[in-house]
Amino acid sequence: MDRKKNTSDIEVNDSICNNFQDQVSKVLIRHKSVLDIITKLDEYNSRVSRAVAKSVTNCGCISINAKKQDFSNITFEEMASRAESHLEGHLCDNCKDVIEEEIGSYLFYLAALSNTLNVDLSEIIEKENDRIKTLGIFNLT
Ligand SMILES: [Zn+2]
Repeated sequence: MDRKKNTSDIEVNDSICNNFQDQVSKVLIRHKSVLDIITKLDEYNSRVSRAVAKSVTNCGCISINAKKQDFSNITFEEMASRAESHLEGHLCDNCKDVIEEEIGSYLFYLAALSNTLNVDLSEIIEKENDRIKTLGIFNLT
């Protein structure tokens, strides 16, 4: 039963990714060069980080309280439950909108790069999902 549900979810995600890649290919005109695409991808990667930083420093809806992760004298399996994000608070609606917009733009250029290189985003997600499932907690990425 669960297997059938998972297969259905994958088909839906395939469709979303394929539609998204198709849509991006139709509207990407101005930055069609692979050089424009990879530099725009870098730009939006920075803009996502900048939006997170601004949520901390300008808005204050989230804060970062970072310190060394203490993984001494614990098993590898215990690391996952002890690892901290160092993030406190929750994104306000405004910051969430900004971050979602920047991530969306990042995804646009990721889809554009995938189109240019003739790779399928849904296949990449499926392969990565399989790799994560296989490696489980031993996935160190
Ligand atoms: Zn905020």
